[in-house]
Amino acid sequence: MNRRIGVMGGTFDPIHYGHLVIANEVLYKYNMEKIIFVPAGNPPHKKVTGACASDRFLMTNIATISNNKFIVSDVEIKSMEKSYTINTIRKLINEYDDAEFYFITGTDAILELPNWYDTENLLKMCKFIGVSRSGYSTLEIENKINKIKNSYNGQIELLQVPMLEISSTDIRKRIKQGRSAKYLLPEIVEEYILKKNLYLE
Ligand code: ATP
Ligand code: MG
Repeated sequence: MNRRIGVMGGTFDPIHYGHLVIANEVLYKYNMEKIIFVPAGNPPHKKVTGACASDRFLMTNIATISNNKFIVSDVEIKSMEKSYTINTIRKLINEYDDAEFYFITGTDAILELPNWYDTENLLKMCKFIGVSRSGYSTLEIENKINKIKNSYNGQIELLQVPMLEISSTDIRKRIKQGRSAKYLLPEIVEEYILKKNLYLE
């Protein structure tokens, strides 16, 4: 069996327990060697509203530091151009040429797959795992995913994971309003946010 590597893309603005739980579920259910977290870069022409790329990269690192199967890649944050997932996967395949790649997303992201850049070739290069996220009915998701699978002839698997109703949007809102975000994200990440005064505007 090839070594299996999971890839978790996201803005991680900030990283929270929803991300960490799904990465860990996939790691064990699929017997993966590791999960690579890939924080997205800041597109140069777009106004950044949340934390900058280096803060997001740092927070992703400190959140995953105690798990030696979780690693963080700077491939997208160091790129000056908008990073398309297909280019990221291509770079990772070059780095680990004997591995089988699985891109991990929540339900919201997997349903957007037809709008991604070059979905057809992306699905030839890696498999997708769509994990449950609250707010979506399983039947509706299965039907939509089957349609995507059929039109691209790609491999997309759905995985039920413990659902945590956590989002970065909600955490940013809490911080801005001075409400507690405790237990939604690693304590050290929350401390970093407060220390650096992130998400206050
Ligand atoms: P934002 O609210 O800023 O969009 P987010 O919480 O959705 O943040 P992202 O960085 O956008 O986090 O998400 C990265 C990936 O993690 C996406 O595929 C998303 O679907 C998935 N994800 C995020 N939070 C959860 C969660 N609580 N349960 C399952 N999947 C999640
Ligand atoms: Mg999101």
